[in-house]
Amino acid sequence: MYSEGKEQLVTISSYAGARKDYVQGGGGNTSVKFDGRLMAIKASGYTLAEITHDKGYVTVNYQKILDYCNTVDASADRDFEKESLEVSLGSVELLDGMEYKRPSVEVGFHAFLKKCVIHTHAVYANILCCSEEGRDIAKKAFKDADVGYVFIPYIDPGFRLTLAVKEAADAYRAEHGGAPDLIFLDNHGVIAHGDSAEEAISVHEAACNRIRDSLGLDAFPIPAIRKTADGFASDTPYLKDFMERYCADEAYFNALKLYPDQLVYLGGKMGSAIRLQDGEVFYGTGEKEAQVIEETLLGVAYVIDMIAKAGLTLRQMDDRGADFINNWESEKYRSQLIK
Ligand SMILES: [Zn+2]
Repeated sequence: MYSEGKEQLVTISSYAGARKDYVQGGGGNTSVKFDGRLMAIKASGYTLAEITHDKGYVTVNYQKILDYCNTVDASADRDFEKESLEVSLGSVELLDGMEYKRPSVEVGFHAFLKKCVIHTHAVYANILCCSEEGRDIAKKAFKDADVGYVFIPYIDPGFRLTLAVKEAADAYRAEHGGAPDLIFLDNHGVIAHGDSAEEAISVHEAACNRIRDSLGLDAFPIPAIRKTADGFASDTPYLKDFMERYCADEAYFNALKLYPDQLVYLGGKMGSAIRLQDGEVFYGTGEKEAQVIEETLLGVAYVIDMIAKAGLTLRQMDDRGADFINNWESEKYRSQLIK
């Protein structure tokens, strides 16, 4: 059953999952709507590259999510994070033989978009989404492109982000007669979608290429780690060079609030699981976690460095937004899963 939809999910997931400049660690998520009721979405704790025909995703009844978001009174004084999490967990409808997994914490906004949805933390998109001039750069980069896009100011992931994506897409539809092809999320990432896997991929790919070309960005370095006596160490020259040029010590990273994945995968680990010492970066963790931290660190370094090189102004998350991530139950769950 649903073999065409599963094929599409594998196609878009392996496309994005193969690229460390598109997703780092367990970041990003993909979905495909099988019909008017069932949607397959990446399971929390899996990477996009791990998704196969029968693994790494769960199926949900996305009408339950649409119903909830379309009727909820968001101005009421209730714990919407808890309530909406219950709705998404309650929407899981497993196919025969499928093992229970939590759907991605970002399942909400997928329900409102086209058949095939690719959400990444592409470093090229994040150069726009983490700089004051991002909207101006987008205007230039997409000037002669037949592509519609919107920017959403930073908002807490989960329930609030779902409603913001729905509202931005509704407003765009009212004005242009169709959904925007691209949705840029400030200090977070980008969403591309389409009626087929090929369409979603081509929208995402063109967006990244246009941004890279219009800013003349350096190639994204390949993240690598090596085994040490008591863990792992970074084996990526670019990262060491960044630390030196920016005098980036543990305090530098502790003070940084670039985007949620940085807080989830690096937060609270500087000086313990992550040690910066004599120009080297050490990871006192297992291999999987070391690789996730390396990719996340490299993504953060590249975005900051390219923003500086392009003469743009870095814009970080505010303290309240960072506190929300640090205390969010769903994110604690996600950061545990990489161990
Ligand atoms: Zn995300």
